[in-house]
Amino acid sequence: MEYKKTLLMPKTKFPMRGNLPNKEPLRQEKWESMNIYEKDQKRTEGRPLFILHDGPPYANGDLHIGHALNKILKDFITRYKSMSGYQAPYVPGWDTHGLPIETALTKKKKINRKDLNIAEFREMCAEYAMGQLYNQRDQFKSLGVRGDWDNPYITLTKDYEAAQIKVFGEMAKKGYIYKGLQPVYWSPSSESALAEAEIEYHDKRSPSIYVAFNVKDGKDLFAGDEKFIIWTTTPWTIPANLAIALHPEFDYVVVEVNDEKYIIAESLLDTVSEELEWETPKVVKRFKGKEAERITAKHPFYDRESLIILGDYVTTDSGTGCVHTAPGHGEDDFYASKRYGIDALCPVDEKGVFTEEAPGFEGIFYDKANKDITEKLEEVGALLKLNFITHSYPHDWRTKKPTIFRATSQWFASIKAFREDILEEIKKVNWYPSWGETRLHNMVKDREDWCISRQRTWGVPIPVFYGEDQTPIITDETIENVSNLFAEHGSNIWFEWEAKDLLPEGFTSEHSPNGNFTKETDIMDVWFDSGSSHEAVLVGRPDHHRPADVYLEGSDQYRGWFNSSLSTAVAVTGKAPYKTIVSHGFVLDGKGRKMSKSLGNVMLPSKVQKQFGSDILRLWVSSVDYQADVRISNEILKQVSESYRKIRNTFRFMLANISDFDPATDRVPEEEMEEVDRYMLYRLQELIDDVHENYEKYEYSPIYHRIHNFVADDLSSFYLDFAKDILYIEAEDNHYRRSIQTGYYEILVSLVKLLTPIIPHTTDEIWEYIPGVKEESIQLTDMPTSRSIVGFEGKVEKWDQFMKIRDDVLKALEEARDEKVIGKSLEAKVTLVPQDENVATILNSIPNLHQLLIVSEAELSDHEKKAKNYKHVSVLVEPHPGEKCERCWVNSCTIGENKEHPTLCTRCADVVTEHYAE
Ligand SMILES: [Zn+2]
Repeated sequence: MEYKKTLLMPKTKFPMRGNLPNKEPLRQEKWESMNIYEKDQKRTEGRPLFILHDGPPYANGDLHIGHALNKILKDFITRYKSMSGYQAPYVPGWDTHGLPIETALTKKKKINRKDLNIAEFREMCAEYAMGQLYNQRDQFKSLGVRGDWDNPYITLTKDYEAAQIKVFGEMAKKGYIYKGLQPVYWSPSSESALAEAEIEYHDKRSPSIYVAFNVKDGKDLFAGDEKFIIWTTTPWTIPANLAIALHPEFDYVVVEVNDEKYIIAESLLDTVSEELEWETPKVVKRFKGKEAERITAKHPFYDRESLIILGDYVTTDSGTGCVHTAPGHGEDDFYASKRYGIDALCPVDEKGVFTEEAPGFEGIFYDKANKDITEKLEEVGALLKLNFITHSYPHDWRTKKPTIFRATSQWFASIKAFREDILEEIKKVNWYPSWGETRLHNMVKDREDWCISRQRTWGVPIPVFYGEDQTPIITDETIENVSNLFAEHGSNIWFEWEAKDLLPEGFTSEHSPNGNFTKETDIMDVWFDSGSSHEAVLVGRPDHHRPADVYLEGSDQYRGWFNSSLSTAVAVTGKAPYKTIVSHGFVLDGKGRKMSKSLGNVMLPSKVQKQFGSDILRLWVSSVDYQADVRISNEILKQVSESYRKIRNTFRFMLANISDFDPATDRVPEEEMEEVDRYMLYRLQELIDDVHENYEKYEYSPIYHRIHNFVADDLSSFYLDFAKDILYIEAEDNHYRRSIQTGYYEILVSLVKLLTPIIPHTTDEIWEYIPGVKEESIQLTDMPTSRSIVGFEGKVEKWDQFMKIRDDVLKALEEARDEKVIGKSLEAKVTLVPQDENVATILNSIPNLHQLLIVSEAELSDHEKKAKNYKHVSVLVEPHPGEKCERCWVNSCTIGENKEHPTLCTRCADVVTEHYAE
């Protein structure tokens, strides 16, 4: 008889190899054709809503790995929530306005702006943005991210723009919107004001000059022949100098050097002396900064005064303690001068070129003018020293060119007016990681009013009209009318229609006695666009609510979207638009370096997908501590693939061993299951609790590690290993066998569900091979929740203890193998001597001990002297005295007892006789 044929060997068609790069696209097509997103929304309808509100990526270019990290993390959340008692819609969004798209059209597509009117150019921008959006959408979908991809929110759609106008109008109504002259970061290269978020710092080489200003009216303090010394690295701002600032409490001195008298801060005397090569400066007078208030000096080359003013921001870190003040070109300068009634002077136009307000330098680019102005200072004898320094200087993040401060007429949202409310709201939000709270608090605490206007065309118009006397007009009526018109026609009509057609019919104003109106030409900062999404999406969509349950973005968004959304929401509703903020770090290469083209270390998601598959990328996301910066490389992905293979093979093994198991008829009632099987189910419940707890905390790497360890330790090395002797050997319907299959079935179904948010392609594939499941996709099921195991009360400790005893035995077997006492552990007979009563009781109560330990025989004894001591038991390992059974390979002394089957042990002989009689 061929005994091989009487073994129930594992059987499955589930492939060993994932072949993910080829199979995932097909599975995604299948999901698409079955409308999996809609189906799941339908399935979960009526449950509480859980809203993860998507921060919109900018619709330009291919996805980088950071995009993938972001969207995959979001997918973990919405998939988990929809399997855990919620309806969790996911509406992806896109940010579509702004300079990069204008630049892409003019630079990459060689569109000549001059050939087009504004509305035509804007239409091309819209078309370009949509093309980019579709490209990114396909890439996001290929990551397996599930969402309402057919109905995303897009900042250029009519309904979105109409909602944004409402937010602006609501803020205007509350008096939070104002127009003012103010130095703003200005980029001459893009001819636009920049938000702080659009600034990056790079090194720049600048001139460093010391300049003397003669005292004009010294009042009672000075004789009149003294000179203030200022220090600056921006000589081009000298034509706009209107004041010199001193610290009120610092000590200043008048020093005599080479028959001249100079004024500087006393504490800087040494450094200035060294800089200016003064050999024997003699202090002739000493005074406090505040004593010099309102004294006047003379501008070095214009017939103009420079007022001595006071400011707490003056430091003695560098310079002279006498600070050159050009209110049109600096923030501190602007506010300090304002207190003295000095208006900003800004003789530089939007291209960075001097106007006629700077006589002698008209038409010169500011940076070039540094030289001309320094020469002029030299010529008039005011230049005391010139050299060059390299320092960190603000640059335009897009053009990478230096920026300047420039006083311009801009629209502002007053953060000051509701800053305290924002800070209060920050306290109510849940922060992951917790330092996010401090980060945003500090960001808001120090934030100046928000300059929301941009001198560009591709964006949402600032809906303001002007009367004949140039008074800005914003009323409830005008806002509502513009909002309605945008909802109907889109914002392009702002550029196509006359002001009077954009106003409500019959609109009149005291500012326009003749009925003539004009309109604002500036557009809104794109951060105002995305910052209005809570109104457009959370309020605008029927299956959403404000506040959202969670926003999850990169840590750069503390100053970006988290901030702008919070500002507009508190302004309009008094409340934060989110309950929870989760932030993630940046993706670095394997060595922890930033990815850059020049380093050649950029890893694109599309490449990872082609080489490894999306589920490997997703598993990687789950494996990293994403709240800090994370690393990715081929090496790292190979390790993740290894782990994936382990998980996949474990599932395959379980599938193969339940192929003849029908849960409807073969399931063993729990109370009748073997204790060891119930113990494994109990371990599963612990795992389920841990996994839920971590999903709830938005922590995925503990899930990854916990499941990996469960698979490797509890399953592979124990449950799947010892069970072979039962699953393969016993008769199909044998109680022990069905008990194990019942255990396997539940563990398998639970594990694949727990992993579905992370590797949905793989778990859905497994789902197709699990006997007896009804749902057409695992995505349409709910997560397992932990329960108590029937009849297992009070037995946990015993089994936990047994696993420790088992560790001792495994160690003993390993040593015996090393010493060549035995070959395979199945050849061994072990004699166990419990070291205490408790261990004895445990071991006595466990049937089939030898099976759990995978040896041929396990005997208990209390007097085996040759046994070696371990922690809980002493163990003697000997070669088993019996022979090896041909069928089960267990050594036994019963071989030959059954004359029909002389090469089998009695157990096998019985199985064969009863079930495989010829
Ligand atoms: Zn046998």
